[in-house]
Amino acid sequence: MRLGSAAGVTDTGRRRLRNEDAFICEPPLFAVADGMGGARAGEIAAGLAAAALEEAGAETRGAEGITALLVEANRRIWERSVQDPATAGMGTTVTAALLDAATGTVGVAHVGDSRAYRLRGGALEQLTTDHSLVAELVESGVLSPEEAERHPQRSAITRALGTEATVDVDAFTVGAEPGDVFLICSDGLSNMVSDDEIAAVVSEARGSLADAGEALVSAANAHGGEDNITVVLFEIVAGDPEAPPPSVPAPATATADGVGDGPGETQSAEPLASGGPLRRHGAGAGGRLPAILLIVAVLVLGILVLYWGVSR
Ligand code: CA
Repeated sequence: MRLGSAAGVTDTGRRRLRNEDAFICEPPLFAVADGMGGARAGEIAAGLAAAALEEAGAETRGAEGITALLVEANRRIWERSVQDPATAGMGTTVTAALLDAATGTVGVAHVGDSRAYRLRGGALEQLTTDHSLVAELVESGVLSPEEAERHPQRSAITRALGTEATVDVDAFTVGAEPGDVFLICSDGLSNMVSDDEIAAVVSEARGSLADAGEALVSAANAHGGEDNITVVLFEIVAGDPEAPPPSVPAPATATADGVGDGPGETQSAEPLASGGPLRRHGAGAGGRLPAILLIVAVLVLGILVLYWGVSR
């Protein structure tokens, strides 16, 4: 197995003025952060978390590797909030997934209520457990899952990155098989769109995860778009995990400084690659004309010299 395509999309939604979500779609690392705090503090917290995760290198492995990055992100957000009163109390959720194609596993680490799901055979399985008030009330039997979905405090989280000097990160590893689609999202999607609808939308858009991401954002907005909406998707396909990244993921990582949008960039990268030989061919034709002109000039000069000599 190996990584297929991947896509990430974020949207402010219909009620919020700013987007305080952030995401990472840089194969093999994927993450969503949902910031919180007054003024622009939520954006700062989510941005600091994303920046810490982006420091992941080839040596970062599994759930433990991502957990270490989240602990470091927590330290940076906490220190910033202590030094800068305008950001006091800021924090962010983070849910991050790291694919290890060699072992066929995905490491997941998370804090807060941004979720990771795995879609396998049409069934959507929620991998993470929300660190939220309503999740705890469901766990203790006070609320039913249906009551939790409509609860006015459903966005209240019990754990966040950066709100305290230390953080407790949940981390685990799950298996990945060809055909699996992994999805990470902020609560702006999961509070607005049911698991069944998420599964249906992604299944219908099969073949383009970028289309699936856009369709999920549209669905969340159609249901009210009450919060920022962010979703990152990646799929597992059959293939050699040791082989260099094949046609689809290779250009996506080559242009990974922006939003990962695999298939579109793949297509645009191919004509560029074949532009090399074409340019060389053009230069060859351009180099031939001066050579012909030089031969003609030498011949004309020779004839002139000959004519000059004869005429004397
Ligand atoms: Ca949110």
